[in-house]
Amino acid sequence: MERRLQYLNHREHKKIVPEKIDTVIVPVGTIEAHGVTPLGTDNIIPEAMAVPIAEEINALIAPTVNYGITRGLAGHPGTITITPEVFKAYMGDILEGLAANGFRKIIALNGHGGQTNELKDALFATSRKTRARTMLVEWWADTDEIRNKHLEREGGHGGSDETAAVMAIDSSLVKKDLYDEKQVAYYSRAYSAYPVPGSIIIYTEGDSSLNFDEDKCKAYFDAVTSKTTGIIKEVLAKWDLI
Ligand SMILES: [Zn+2]
Repeated sequence: MERRLQYLNHREHKKIVPEKIDTVIVPVGTIEAHGVTPLGTDNIIPEAMAVPIAEEINALIAPTVNYGITRGLAGHPGTITITPEVFKAYMGDILEGLAANGFRKIIALNGHGGQTNELKDALFATSRKTRARTMLVEWWADTDEIRNKHLEREGGHGGSDETAAVMAIDSSLVKKDLYDEKQVAYYSRAYSAYPVPGSIIIYTEGDSSLNFDEDKCKAYFDAVTSKTTGIIKEVLAKWDLI
């Protein structure tokens, strides 16, 4: 069945929500420079990941929120940023709108670490106001083991992990020829620079090269998708006990 909300007719929506489906996934990202992958990497990854997750948990998928809060990379070509207060208010209206339309469980699948706090605030406020259950999930968090196993490198912004996810989704989006070690910035706590002096940012010193092996990238993306699915399923199951 069609699970993407914006492709449903409103009469179909009325029949489905909330009687047959009361859960919705909202992919959220931003537009910012990412090493050798597209400016929309943070939108492309959660949007693709939402498809198998929605099947698994019987959810609809709301349109992706494509613009987010970008700080350090603002100043790199093509990067766009939304003021945090504006983003939080806009997200709040979207989440409340979903609750008003009958969704009782709202899952924000975030693709961009620069807006975690604002998303949490908007999700919490929506839950208090509408009594809907709300959840933030960040697919890359707590996946070092999976990355080490499949990619054997350090990850980070535009690093091996995000690049592998885009490779798995559509390898033609990855511009391998554009990789240049000089665009890697090691982000130490000792400095903050605007813009960040590289569109690939690693947070732990180590091998920052990218893994372009398609099979390994696919295995990595399957593993992080299934880990993310597992986290969501566990929360949904425990919510049922409340
Ligand atoms: Zn990213």
